[in-house]
Amino acid sequence: MPSMTSIAPHTKAKGLKPGSRRPAKELCSECGLCDTYYIHYVKEACAFLNQQISELEEIAHGRSRNLDDENDWYFGVYQQMTAARKKQPIEGAQWTGIVSAIACEMLTQGLVEGVVCVQNTPEDRFQPMPIIAKTTEEILAARVNKPTLSPNLSILEQVEQSGMKRLLVIGVGCQIQALRAVEKKLGLEKLYILGTPCVDNVTREGLQTFLQTTSKSPETVIHYEFMQDFRVHFKHEDGSIEKVPFFGLKTNKLKDVFAPSCMSCFDYVNSLADLVVGYMGAEFGWQWIMVRNETGREMLALVEEQIDTKPVISQGDRKQAVQQSIPAYDKGVTLPMWAAKLMGVVIEKIGPKGLEYARFSIDSHFTRNYLYLKRNHPEKLADHVPEYAKRIVNQYQLPTH
Ligand code: FAD
Ligand code: SF4
Repeated sequence: MPSMTSIAPHTKAKGLKPGSRRPAKELCSECGLCDTYYIHYVKEACAFLNQQISELEEIAHGRSRNLDDENDWYFGVYQQMTAARKKQPIEGAQWTGIVSAIACEMLTQGLVEGVVCVQNTPEDRFQPMPIIAKTTEEILAARVNKPTLSPNLSILEQVEQSGMKRLLVIGVGCQIQALRAVEKKLGLEKLYILGTPCVDNVTREGLQTFLQTTSKSPETVIHYEFMQDFRVHFKHEDGSIEKVPFFGLKTNKLKDVFAPSCMSCFDYVNSLADLVVGYMGAEFGWQWIMVRNETGREMLALVEEQIDTKPVISQGDRKQAVQQSIPAYDKGVTLPMWAAKLMGVVIEKIGPKGLEYARFSIDSHFTRNYLYLKRNHPEKLADHVPEYAKRIVNQYQLPTH
C-alpha cells in the first residue's frame, strides 16, 4: 500500500468545482474522487495517475494475479466462476438484474446501511446521478447501465457525514481502484464491493454521437449492449430490439467517441471488486459471475435461491479474429452492411463462445488501448500498463508506428 498521510482529508483539501480540470487531465474518467476532499489522496489513488492493481489485489484478495496462469492474466484473482440468471428477471434491468437483487438483499438482510449506485437524472435517462440508496426502491431505480462516465465516488463525503459504518458500493474498475486506495480512510467497519466489467464508456455528448451514428432511432433507445453474437443490441421504448453488426460500425466516425480514460484502461474485468457480475464470459442470455474473495462469496450466497446457475464454457479460437481486427480498427475500416451482416452470421456460428468470447473482447480492447497509449501518452506505457496486460498484448503483432 502506498504511504498516505493520516491527517483527516477534510482539514487539508476541498473537492474541485464541476467542469474544472482534473489531476489526470484528459485521462480523467470522472470517477468522482476529485469532487470530494479525498482529492487529498489523488496522486496515489487515481487509477490513471498511479496504476497499482497488483498491490491492491494483495490487500483485497490476499494475493495478486499469478502471472504463470493465463486465466489470471485475463480474469484476475477469483475463487469461483459461474454462469447465472435470475429465475425471475427484474423488469428493466440491464440483463436479469442480479446486481440489483444482491444489493436489495444486502440492504434488507441488514448487512449494509446503504448502497452506492447510479440512478439517472429526471430529465435524461442516460445522465448518471450517483446516490446512496437506503431503500430497495432506490436501488431498483438505479437498475440498468448508464453507459456514460459516472462520478460514483462523488458521494464519499456524504458517506462520512452520514455516519454509516457498513456500505455496499456498486461500480466499474476505475472507480473501484480509487475506492480501494482510500478504503481505510473512510472510517467504515465493512465495505462490500460489487463490480461490473466495463469498456468503451463515453461522455454524455459522446453517447449522443454513438447513438446517432449507429441506431436508426437514437431518441428511443432505452439501453444497449455489445452482445456475444457480435452485434450491438439496442432496446427501444416500444420493446423492439435493433441489431447492428460490430463489423458494420462506422469506426472512422466512432474512433474519437470513447473517452480517453477508457482508451487507456486495462481493468476491463474489475480486478479489485469482491464480486463481479457481467455477461461476456457466459453464453447468450446468461450472466457471468466471478467470486474474487470470501466477501464476494458471502454476497453471492444471498441470492442463491433466486438464480439458476451452470458452468461456464469455452469454445473456439479467438486469435485470428483479434489479429485481423487490429489493422481494421486502426485504419477505421467500415464494411458495407451486407458484408458486415454476413460476417456476423459466420463468426457467430464458428466464432469464440463463453470464456473464449471474453478473451476475444479483452484482447481486442487491450491491443487497441495499448496502441492508443503508445501514440498519445508514450511516457505512461511502462507504469500504466499492468504486467498481465503486457503479456496479453504481446501475443499479437501490432503496427510499429
Ligand atoms: P442491473 O441490476 O441492471 O444493475 C446495474 C447496476 O449498474 C446498477 O446498480 C447501477 O448502479 C450500476 N451502473 C449503471 N451504470 C453505471 C456506470 N456508468 N458506472 C458505474 N455503475 C453503473 N459486462 C461485460 O461482461 N462485458 C462488457 O463489455 C461490459 N461493458 C459494460 C460497459 C459499461 C459502461 C457498464 C456500466 C457495464 C458493462 N458491463 C459489461 C456490465 C453489464 O453490462 C451489466 O451491467 C452487468 O451484467 C449487470 O447486469 P444486471 O442486470 O445484473 O444489472
Ligand atoms: Fe480524480 Fe478520478 Fe479523474 Fe483520477 S479519474 S483525476 S481520481 S476524478
